[in-house]
Amino acid sequence: MATDVLAGQEQRVAELTDQLVSQYPPSSTHAVEFLGAQYDMGLAWVHFPVGSGGLDVSPKFQKIVNEKIARAGGPSSYARNPIGYGMCGPTVVEWGTAEQKDRYLRPLFTGEEIWCQLFSEPGSGSDFAGLSAKGVRDGEEWIINGQKVWTTLAHLSKWGLLVVRTDADAVKHAGLTAVVVDMQAQGVEVRPLRQMTGEAEFNEVYFTDTRVPVSETLGNVGDGWRVSLTTLMNERVAIGGAIPQKGSGPIREAVRLWQQKPVESQDLATKDQLMKLWIRAEVARLTNIRAGQSRKMGVPGPEGSIGKMASADLNKETYEFCIKLLGAEGMLYGSYEMVRPDTAMSFDSIPKAFLRARANSIEGGTSEVMRNILGERVLGLPGDVRVDREIPWSKVPRN
Ligand SMILES: Cc1cc2nc3c(=O)[nH]c(=O)nc-3n(C[C@H](O)[C@H](O)[C@H](O)COP(=O)(O)OP(=O)(O)OC[C@H]3O[C@@H](n4cnc5c(N)ncnc54)[C@H](O)[C@@H]3O)c2cc1C
Repeated sequence: MATDVLAGQEQRVAELTDQLVSQYPPSSTHAVEFLGAQYDMGLAWVHFPVGSGGLDVSPKFQKIVNEKIARAGGPSSYARNPIGYGMCGPTVVEWGTAEQKDRYLRPLFTGEEIWCQLFSEPGSGSDFAGLSAKGVRDGEEWIINGQKVWTTLAHLSKWGLLVVRTDADAVKHAGLTAVVVDMQAQGVEVRPLRQMTGEAEFNEVYFTDTRVPVSETLGNVGDGWRVSLTTLMNERVAIGGAIPQKGSGPIREAVRLWQQKPVESQDLATKDQLMKLWIRAEVARLTNIRAGQSRKMGVPGPEGSIGKMASADLNKETYEFCIKLLGAEGMLYGSYEMVRPDTAMSFDSIPKAFLRARANSIEGGTSEVMRNILGERVLGLPGDVRVDREIPWSKVPRN
């Protein structure tokens, strides 16, 4: 895009954000009203079309909006509705009908309607295309049966982005369909799954003869794999693609703890470890900036998988380092009472962040799977062994 066009877009985004913050001062405006106004001004996802919460400009300018709003103490849609904002919104805008975009995007953005992602099943996580939950058409409705697992925030959700098998005789990637399911509909049961932080951030979800109108299909019947790729690519960017300020995030905690140590116990070997982590955090940040610039109008490619993989290992190692600096204090943990949190990935202590970071190399696709994507799609290495690609799903042996 021409430089003067980009400069014009940047100026418009900055001016509109200033206008938003002055017309709706965050200190005296309810979060839902503020976010609603943000959506209406096209500042929700700036790269989305006009009328769907965007301005049809380069996605790189969202950073300007987010930073100005954060500085003014305004609310964040991502914090209220992380799966909705980061993954379901971009999927609805790419695959939804005009009616679906009108119905879903604004309350998703304001956090009045929380969303969850119903992809993983007990028998299919990495091999998500092998899933078994069934959708059978009955007139103008789908009848859904099956089980999903690890469904983050399902206990708070109004809507779920669900992928089911609608044609068992097609090859596995071709027989899938994506629908939007009302999480309060009859036959939907949500059960907590407790994780090692003590929280139950995610859930098992059971569907028993749940009826979903066919008009709630996202994309066409059989498009489920392509629809879910949009979700997964955005998920990887949401998890690993954030562009924090230099020296912020987990590495800031490590530096803070280091600086709190008495000077006589700041040994050079530990300082060396801290410096190596700091350099890796900065390299990851710069790589994400570069990846963000090559991303076309917000449609992420394999670079999202690289950022996701790098940040998973780095987060784990940085929090391990923090625990080491805390010494015996790092073993103290508040309470293991089961809590059903009202958002995901919130850390109020280093030990909790340390425990929660273990999930980073699993959620949104494991690091092994990210390495496969990196090897195949970026480095052009020979592909993973796939023996069930050409066989109808119903004929693939499974236990
Ligand atoms: C905190 C958290 C939140 C989550 N939230 C959601 C959510 O909201 N919605 C949702 O649908 N899912 C969610 N998930 C599920 C997540 O997407 C899956 O856990 C993930 O895709 C891995 O699947 P799996 O657990 O079935 O492991 P498996 O796929 O069974 O993998 C087991 C092991 O085998 C390895 N492996 C598998 N295939 C390959 C391969 N081809 N090459 C090399 N190694 C391989 C994996 O790396 C892993 O080490 C969440 C998970 C976590 C941890």
